[in-house]
Amino acid sequence: MGKILGIIGGGQLGMMIAEAAKNMTDEIEKIIVLDPTENCPAAQVGAEQIVADFKNRNAIVELSEKSDIITYEIESGDSDVLKSVEKNAEINPSPETLRIIQDKFLQKTFLKENNIPVPDFIQINSIEEVKKGVEDYGLPALLKARRDAYDGRGNYKIDTSEDIQKAYDYFKGQKLMLERFVPFKMEVSVIASRNTKGQIKTYPLVENIHEDNILRETIAPARVSDQIIKNAEEIAEKTMTVLKGAGVFGIEMFVTQDDQIVINEIAPRVHNSGHHSLQSSETSQFEQHLRAILGLELGSTKLVHNTIMYNILGNKSFQGEYKPLKLDDKNLYLKMYGKKVSKPLRKLGHFNLVGNEGETIDQLIERLEAIKPRAIVEST
Ligand code: AMP
Repeated sequence: MGKILGIIGGGQLGMMIAEAAKNMTDEIEKIIVLDPTENCPAAQVGAEQIVADFKNRNAIVELSEKSDIITYEIESGDSDVLKSVEKNAEINPSPETLRIIQDKFLQKTFLKENNIPVPDFIQINSIEEVKKGVEDYGLPALLKARRDAYDGRGNYKIDTSEDIQKAYDYFKGQKLMLERFVPFKMEVSVIASRNTKGQIKTYPLVENIHEDNILRETIAPARVSDQIIKNAEEIAEKTMTVLKGAGVFGIEMFVTQDDQIVINEIAPRVHNSGHHSLQSSETSQFEQHLRAILGLELGSTKLVHNTIMYNILGNKSFQGEYKPLKLDDKNLYLKMYGKKVSKPLRKLGHFNLVGNEGETIDQLIERLEAIKPRAIVEST
């Protein structure tokens, strides 16, 4: 008999995990997601749904009673509540790993203590500490909310000393940290996996292009030297060794001006910069996550085709229902997430553009540029 898998969050990540589970019916009998949006993306592909807030204690208890294993597609789950339901279901990654990762200050402290490179940072408890930190680090510097921040929404870039007060007021009442600004050459990431038995595998380094603090495009593989690739993959592996959690993790990094790697942040879940693996790799990150939390042998992470992933984001100029998007090109794989309503910069879908025989990365980028003007969501 297969297991019943509970997922906290039923958005596009939960949806793609549920789809991967359909090819593993011997291991997974059913998926139940907990999500506040009725008929969330994962429910549209057959997952059962408990409609409730991610932090609703009763709903998490109900999910744990109905599931053999619990995992998540968002990192904002309440780690204390999750810890209290460990007697009902196995939870991967563990609530302790989640507790460390979901607080950026604890996460960076943990990495630093384990000699894994991160930008300089300090904890902030008063505006005086921001002023002192800015004096030490120079401008610009980044004031960051420690928790519940994603897609850049938890960051305030302090460019001038006048910004200090504004930045501090912006986060009123939240726990904060200050970070040295890294004038990076490139943003890259490693999708890493560790199964419950301790086996670790990393996917090849990819290059990430952000716009408005949101991931726009991932180029697989990253256009960097072999030395940088080696360094980044070693750092990712070391991170997985010390973190101990089971599952897939997205490890975002910066390549500095002198070609060093520092970790920006870790997501304890499948990651947008790993969506290319659906077509580029021997094992998708979604299948890998399932293999990891079920304690199965991890799949091959070999990149079989050069691929660029492009996110379809909600148009900045409207909110509401939108026309279905159709995109055709050779080896273009469009995946829309079934969200009814578009909002500015909301992630509505993505496509993977897979390299044709003999096509170089530069040619693939050119092909993508020609497609981009058609990859726009319009109001109905
Ligand atoms: P985060 O939400 O912290 O991952 O940050 C979102 C984006 O802000 C990153 O992808 C970077 O482009 C930028 N960013 C975050 N931290 C730094 C930093 N210390 N120096 C420069 N840019 C940063």
